[in-house]
Amino acid sequence: MINAFSIDLEDWFCVYNLSNVIKQEDWDSYEYRAEKNTRKLLSILDEFNVKCTFFVLGWISEKSPELIKEIENRGHEIAFHTYTHSLINYLSREQFEEEITKGLNIFKEIGIKQTISGFRAPSFTITKDTYWALEILSKYNFRYDSSVFPVGFHPDYGINNAPLSPYEIKENLLEFPLSVLKIMGKNIPCCGGGYFRLYPYFLTKFMIKKVNRQGRPVNFYIHPWEIDPDQPKVNLPLLKKFRHYNNLNKTEKRLRKLLKDFKFTTIKNVLGL
Ligand SMILES: [Zn+2]
Repeated sequence: MINAFSIDLEDWFCVYNLSNVIKQEDWDSYEYRAEKNTRKLLSILDEFNVKCTFFVLGWISEKSPELIKEIENRGHEIAFHTYTHSLINYLSREQFEEEITKGLNIFKEIGIKQTISGFRAPSFTITKDTYWALEILSKYNFRYDSSVFPVGFHPDYGINNAPLSPYEIKENLLEFPLSVLKIMGKNIPCCGGGYFRLYPYFLTKFMIKKVNRQGRPVNFYIHPWEIDPDQPKVNLPLLKKFRHYNNLNKTEKRLRKLLKDFKFTTIKNVLGL
């Protein structure tokens, strides 16, 4: 079974979890580490000969056009992660559309050749309250969204009873939900980000194997800042601190194990687009 591997390309200070401390208008004043960390991820992917999907933040593509072109030249899929990393539930339709046109224009201006087919909402905020955003994705010719987390426990995201396999969420628009394993009626996230850092590797491996045995490819995701234990630290409330800084020093080693144990490709390939 070939699984999907994706990278949400943003820097450590773009994360919603830090947004009470770091405002978007101040991003330029923080240490920019996305280039270095992304290049490191690119070389790890090369080691295992894996092509993947990069959900690129518009703000990053403006700052690092050469990096985004290099990602494309190295054979990876370029997809979109909004311009400012604002959660969809805090945006109006007009603001969301503006994010999209601005971001897609930057890709065009810097010379990205491939057609952009994929979208991922910041903090997975395609929920029952933000279904309106799907119409706008179709309007701009996106072929798939990968933002629905089929869980019911998280305060910011999740659609509890959403399908677990890729499905047509709207006419001509596929949804590739984030992966969960169903255990005793509960959906347990198993495939990336904070969950990958939280669980010991053997547990992630066990869960991916189970999901694959149920006939579903997993949709794995990671951020460049998650392999960077030396990133600047900011003062956060305990839970937020844990979510952002937990096990940053273990991620790179775990990632190599994951890429050795499972086969991965781009989301577009898994969906047959
Ligand atoms: Zn993000």
